[in-house]
Amino acid sequence: MQKKGKVYIIGVGPGDYKLATIKAVECIGRADVVVYDRLIGSKLLSHAREDAELIYVGKMPDRHVVPQHEINRILVEKALEGKTVARVKGGDPFVFGRGGEEAEELRENGIEFEIIPGVTSSIAVPAYAGIPVTHRDFCSSFHIITGHERAEKGRSIIDYEALAKVEGTLIFLMGVKNLPEITANLMKYGKKGSTPAAVIEKGTTAEQRVVAGTVEDIAGKVLEAGVKSPAVTVIGDVVRLREKLGWFPGGRLAGKRVVVTRAREQASKLVEKIEQLGGEAIEFPTIKIAEPEDYAHFDRVLDSLGSFRWIVFTSVNGVDAFFNRMKEKRMDIRSLYGVKLCAVGEATGEHLNRMGLNVDYMPEKFTTACLLKGLLDRIKPGEKVLLARADIGSEELSDGLRENGIEFDDLAVYRTVAEAPGRDEIVELMEEGRIDFITFTSSSTVRNFVSILGRDKLDKINKAKTVCIGPVTAKTAVELGIEVASVADVYTIDGLVEKLAGEG
Ligand code: SAH
Repeated sequence: MQKKGKVYIIGVGPGDYKLATIKAVECIGRADVVVYDRLIGSKLLSHAREDAELIYVGKMPDRHVVPQHEINRILVEKALEGKTVARVKGGDPFVFGRGGEEAEELRENGIEFEIIPGVTSSIAVPAYAGIPVTHRDFCSSFHIITGHERAEKGRSIIDYEALAKVEGTLIFLMGVKNLPEITANLMKYGKKGSTPAAVIEKGTTAEQRVVAGTVEDIAGKVLEAGVKSPAVTVIGDVVRLREKLGWFPGGRLAGKRVVVTRAREQASKLVEKIEQLGGEAIEFPTIKIAEPEDYAHFDRVLDSLGSFRWIVFTSVNGVDAFFNRMKEKRMDIRSLYGVKLCAVGEATGEHLNRMGLNVDYMPEKFTTACLLKGLLDRIKPGEKVLLARADIGSEELSDGLRENGIEFDDLAVYRTVAEAPGRDEIVELMEEGRIDFITFTSSSTVRNFVSILGRDKLDKINKAKTVCIGPVTAKTAVELGIEVASVADVYTIDGLVEKLAGEG
């Protein structure tokens, strides 16, 4: 008989993906199958293995919900196939998460499982609004209550009489719609109408919104503000502390959503900087880095390395691709003896430095014109140049060398391939005007972005502000019909982030 698999019932916190535990992330990364709910961001799913099966069991666009017995069936079935299953839920799986029901079903079917607790919205969302659920000066308990009772019950099973009497903080989940009844019931049994109350919508995310008031007026205020699920309601004196302790969102990009279009392999630095400034980075890798289709040209160049006097690297990827191939061919780094190195961009230069190679020339400005001039000043008659770059490198550089009679070889050390995961999600966010910035770090990302989304989406794209890393990229964007809001003063990732923060 086939060995049974195992199910991990995982909580990943309320929204901010960095609130997921190390154990949760590791587990998602190992799973054969990931079964996930609504509100689980793509950032966490991107930790799944490339070949993992992803099954969405949240609310469908037609509002139809996958019934619990169906979810249970999927978990059991996949485990019986011998798969490792990550069942990913928001918050904590055992706090109104139906994790208990799923675990029961697994036990009944003799399937092994583990529970990975998560940061629950009931505590974390108030915390992000600057509300501690307990505080020695105000209360000695907190109570987490469902605001959404099962529809089949005619009568409330929530004991409002008891709840109205406790002095502890009351925290209602799933209660936006029922807020008028909840507050009316509490007052009916003696809770003071003046007790502070707050409703926090989409807590811990860039769209967090807090509506504050009292038990008496909060329901009206929430209706007026149009607060929607998910939201947590907090009732109690601790709510007062919000004014003193509010801290989120903070940073110069607080509450801003920024689309990052770099290849996943290169995006991390930009993503990290955006997040450090309080923004939410949405990765939309429009290009993927791939090996050349065949190595004939590459190997010919490597076999005659001695004939080159200069090698120009225009990206970190180019450096990696070049030296990886040398390694594969068991070539010694000393075969570069006497060859001068040019790096376009600080990151490229630093990358070479880390490999123990000094850079002989780096242009002050990272534009083709500046690079060309610098090279022409340095290249002596008869010296041959190797351009080690992507298959879609700018023609301007090669044309310039040609026009000046310089002998060169333009070697595509890697390919860039258009990639489009998450396209629909981005289009939806853009349509709703929920993207603040789109960043472009190269002409190829602009081209791919427009071709993946389609030119008919230009008006949607232009709802967001576009910020480009440099003038070449900006020129491409404008040519394609994108309105460029600004261009970085220094053409680096740091320069781009600085510009973004200034705009934000
Ligand atoms: N197991 C989850 C709760 C599931 S019930 C947990 O421990 O957090 C779903 C309810 O959680 C929502 O109706 C809402 O009340 C609350 N919730 C979850 N995420 C939230 C968020 N980011 N902001 C506000 N409320 C949230």
